[in-house]
Amino acid sequence: MDYLTLTIGKVKTIALIAHDQKKHELIQWCDEHKEILKGHFLCGTGTTARMITEATGLPVKGYNSGPLGGDQQIGAKIVEGRVDLVIFFSDPLTAQPHDPDVKALLRIAQVYDIPIANNKASADFIITSPYMEGEYQHQVINFQQNIAERAKSL
Ligand code: PGA
Repeated sequence: MDYLTLTIGKVKTIALIAHDQKKHELIQWCDEHKEILKGHFLCGTGTTARMITEATGLPVKGYNSGPLGGDQQIGAKIVEGRVDLVIFFSDPLTAQPHDPDVKALLRIAQVYDIPIANNKASADFIITSPYMEGEYQHQVINFQQNIAERAKSL
């Protein structure tokens, strides 16, 4: 497989998502790390984004609500190279109607080697990482090459 070296810039676009039972925990986390978050572009699923902005004053661009396609919109931004990091406080104890979308987001973050935190401890480790203050280079599958080879071989 052919890989490309891509750079996650110093200023990052961070996606924030929380399931209903985890929203207050994420708001609290955003408040705790407000000074760091201020230095980056923030986006999130609709309800989460609005609640964070209302509670902390941080500007968070809102996509659709998660169950209405918001997770998929954020997944698409990862594919386009427009989301660099995901903080996703998912709820492991409640069934979600949009479980396939949640899985799709986790999968696409994995494919594109995007850091993703699914609980507070991982989010704390990521947000205090030295990589938050600088660039990070990572290897992503060369999709153009991949298409060219598949089109030739199939
Ligand atoms: P919400 O979506 O922020 O619109 O509630 C989050 C989710 O449940 O995926």
